[in-house]
Amino acid sequence: KRVDVGVESHGINPALVDERAISVLRTLQQAGFEAYIVGGAVRDLLLGLQPKDFDVATNATPEQVKGLFRRAFIIGRRFRIVHVVYGRGREHEVIEVSTFRAYLDNAAAEQVAGNEKTSKSELAGLKHAVDSTGRVLRDNVWGPQEEDAVRRDFTVNAMYYDPQTQIVVDYHGGLKDAKNLTLRMIGDPATRYREDPVRIIRAVRFAAKLSGLGFKLDTKTAAPLVKSQALLADVPQSRLFDEMLKLLQTGHALASIATLKSLGMARGIYPLLDVVVERAEQDFVSSALKDTDRRVAEGKPVAASFLLACVLWADVRDGWARRIQERQHSHPALQDAIDEVFNARIGDVSGRGKLAGDMREIWMMQPRFEKRVGSAPFGLVEQARFRAAFDFMRLRAEAAEVEEQLADWWQEFSVGDDNLRQDLVDQAR
Ligand code: ATP
Ligand code: MG
Repeated sequence: KRVDVGVESHGINPALVDERAISVLRTLQQAGFEAYIVGGAVRDLLLGLQPKDFDVATNATPEQVKGLFRRAFIIGRRFRIVHVVYGRGREHEVIEVSTFRAYLDNAAAEQVAGNEKTSKSELAGLKHAVDSTGRVLRDNVWGPQEEDAVRRDFTVNAMYYDPQTQIVVDYHGGLKDAKNLTLRMIGDPATRYREDPVRIIRAVRFAAKLSGLGFKLDTKTAAPLVKSQALLADVPQSRLFDEMLKLLQTGHALASIATLKSLGMARGIYPLLDVVVERAEQDFVSSALKDTDRRVAEGKPVAASFLLACVLWADVRDGWARRIQERQHSHPALQDAIDEVFNARIGDVSGRGKLAGDMREIWMMQPRFEKRVGSAPFGLVEQARFRAAFDFMRLRAEAAEVEEQLADWWQEFSVGDDNLRQDLVDQAR
């Protein structure tokens, strides 16, 4: 049932809404459509957090939305949305606009999948389907806002906000749950995890993100989590990999790991995540995780390559040392050790060329820090990935793998001018 909540009970400051999102809302509303800020941004505004992006929901179709903006692009196959683009280059910003979608339970979805001429698919012009395990394969059946709310995951993620009227539209008691610090899945949790097992990971992620505010998973939402974990086996590896990165890179890595452990899900979500959790207490990995959380809090960029290079370094280092003992030369030994680790641990996501390439560079640069003669340091400091490789070496120094003094030397060298650099090289002899 729809409840319209005024500013006196939700207290959101409309000035915190991104001006480009406001402009998108205005354009849509002036063209006669309904349009709201939706999802995570409403949740964060309500909780006094700075939203990281502002998504818009509307009853306009993607084509209608596109027609209203100069720079708008329809993207996505499975889930068509519109990107409205503002600004250029580094400063550019994208507001995601999605059309209200219908919620179809499994029976309804199968009917639509089996017969495109059913009423719901007439609305959409597109099939909506679930596979044999009940997973929703296509989500492009347009529907009223009320249904758009039901198909969302948590009650606190299913509210709509219009900064113009300052009204929050709430169908599932999200406001009450937010006040009671409760993370509650809409509908029957076990069914919702079956429809889309990624919601299991999202439950962990939001529980971790909001744990600092005192949020707890509702008992019924938490209860089926462990049992549902097996469903993740059927989710494409690339989607799991992305969700793993969201757990580790959105500023709540340590909290996510603690949450996984406390929920009894330390293992089994994704093999690489198992390794992260296993090693989270090791000096090297724990520094990297803390560092990642701190950087996100400071608004600095974080690179998945750096974190994963830290997590898998123990394997690379051991494989490298073993090969050297077997009388292989150092350089090819390191290369082979890296190949072995990629094969064993990264496997299916090898399509991520840039990520893997960056990890390899960070590792391959490590022995070069030992060479402080001639022109070698001058060459190394100019490398594109120098900073990441240096930060990595610093962590190794903290873990007493290399001398602290070597890290200090490189710190000086990297900030010095050519004269200072030459002095440093002369002194290092
Ligand atoms: P974040 O702050 O991490 O971006 P978010 O709530 O905005 O959190 P998104 O992944 O950006 O999360 O998704 C936007 C919204 O879309 C969510 O708030 C939720 O309403 C809905 N949503 C996203 N993924 C799912 C899903 N797997 N099942 C149901 N609803 C989903
Ligand atoms: Mg979001």
